[in-house]
Amino acid sequence: MSVPYTIGTPGYVPASQKIPPIALPLVSPRAKVFLDKIERFVEEECVPADEVYEQALGRDVQSRFSSHPQIIEDLKKRAKELGLWNLFLPKNHYQGTGADFTNLEYGLMAEYLGRSHIASEACNCAAPDTGNMEVFAKYGTEEQKRRWLEPLLAGEIRSAFCMTEPHIASSDATNIELAIRREGNDYILNGEKWWSSGAGDLRCTVYLVLGKTDPQNANKYKQQTLVAVPSNTPGVTVKRMMQVLGYDDAPRGHGHIVFNNVRVPVSNVILGEGRGFEVIQGRLGPGRIHHAMRCVGVAERALEWFIARLVDPRKKTFGKRLVDHGVLLERVAQSRIDIDAARLAVLNAAVKVDMGDTKSALKEIAEVKVQVPAVLLDTLHRAMQAYGAAGMSQDTPLARMYGRNRTKKIVDGPDEVHMQQLGKTECRTRGDQMLEKITAQRRKTDELLKQYGMEKIDVLQLDRAYHHAAKL
Ligand SMILES: Cc1cc2nc3c(=O)[nH]c(=O)nc-3n(C[C@H](O)[C@H](O)[C@H](O)COP(=O)(O)OP(=O)(O)OC[C@H]3O[C@@H](n4cnc5c(N)ncnc54)[C@H](O)[C@@H]3O)c2cc1C
Repeated sequence: MSVPYTIGTPGYVPASQKIPPIALPLVSPRAKVFLDKIERFVEEECVPADEVYEQALGRDVQSRFSSHPQIIEDLKKRAKELGLWNLFLPKNHYQGTGADFTNLEYGLMAEYLGRSHIASEACNCAAPDTGNMEVFAKYGTEEQKRRWLEPLLAGEIRSAFCMTEPHIASSDATNIELAIRREGNDYILNGEKWWSSGAGDLRCTVYLVLGKTDPQNANKYKQQTLVAVPSNTPGVTVKRMMQVLGYDDAPRGHGHIVFNNVRVPVSNVILGEGRGFEVIQGRLGPGRIHHAMRCVGVAERALEWFIARLVDPRKKTFGKRLVDHGVLLERVAQSRIDIDAARLAVLNAAVKVDMGDTKSALKEIAEVKVQVPAVLLDTLHRAMQAYGAAGMSQDTPLARMYGRNRTKKIVDGPDEVHMQQLGKTECRTRGDQMLEKITAQRRKTDELLKQYGMEKIDVLQLDRAYHHAAKL
């Protein structure tokens, strides 16, 4: 089924022909074919299915957090047939495990995934599974890979990442308190986690839990350990689900989980005791860039809704369509400029990861982690305003998109922490050097003035004293 008002109509430009020229030489012919495929899949099959999925979840809390709408399984089957599966695993690090695209190529595709609420899951590219799969692929033992990575890659199970805790400020991961005590060949976990995304889904069978095995270690980055905990382990209780600006994000949601004497074998440790910090640092990089990639797509969709409202001939104010009111055109233009700039920044960060790894691109990833959600929220604000009261309601997807994406300024660390890090890096790595350079340049100017027989003067020197003027 095609969507007649977009794809295939005169003037329609396929995704592969909209790749920014600066990125074009880095995109393979195969990736271009997939990009067009993913655009069609998302626009024609996933976006129209979003509402069906939502309705199929039911209304009461028990049903919303135990439903698994058939439409998502149908879309997964379709995505597999089209080869649109596990696109996120970059080929330079996971050759043959995923769909073998670069981060840049995936960045272009993820933008389309962002346009639909369920497209990422349909293509097995949804957070937090993507980050968790990378953890298992990179650090997991053969047994852990067999038990969790393989079914995750096949889209048979889901997972959660449990770091944030209710009683401490979790932006600083060294604050984490959940206790992991060793007893023989087992670990015993005690503590609480909240905002564990995905934990409401009955198919979420494994949690990656960060806790402390060595809270007295003088090195505060060696106190933490990450362990895999099957969700059906005795002592695990998903106490409640968290609300996000009024939405429950069912069926996956964000769980508040209690761990009460939860016993798992020592073999469930990821990478090794005391190495949890190392693993989470490695995990958060790809997660942040994937969020940013999808946010560009959400912003494009918001802009489409914005434009559609402006040209709607049924809704005129003061005798004119909204598109004929100049102030709104300026808002469209600003959104266009912001989104295009955000896309280039995201693709640049992706290329930097392709050239090395996420560690070598931390600066670029932090930049887009802050920049792109801000662009998206500004675009959503403008679009919502153009719809008047309808923009606040369930009658457009905009309010819901706002609810889901306001969180991006907090998820994976609040903006302030990334800004502080970026600011620190700028000042610490270059501060002294900049001061020295500017001082040396000024010194050289003085020498040149002397050499050319000139005196240092300030052309704006006025030396006006008002008591002379008063005597006149
Ligand atoms: C929708 C959603 C999904 C999430 N999913 C997950 C998940 O799957 N797993 C998981 O573990 N966590 C998840 N989180 C939690 C998220 O990662 C944390 O909320 C985030 O790291 C901030 O921690 P906190 O809430 O404890 O805020 P706090 O650490 O208490 O910080 C509160 C505020 O203080 C300010 N602040 C903090 N540090 C600084 C600083 N250095 N300078 C200036 N101001 C500062 C910021 O404004 C910040 O928002 C999710 C959150 C949301 C909203």
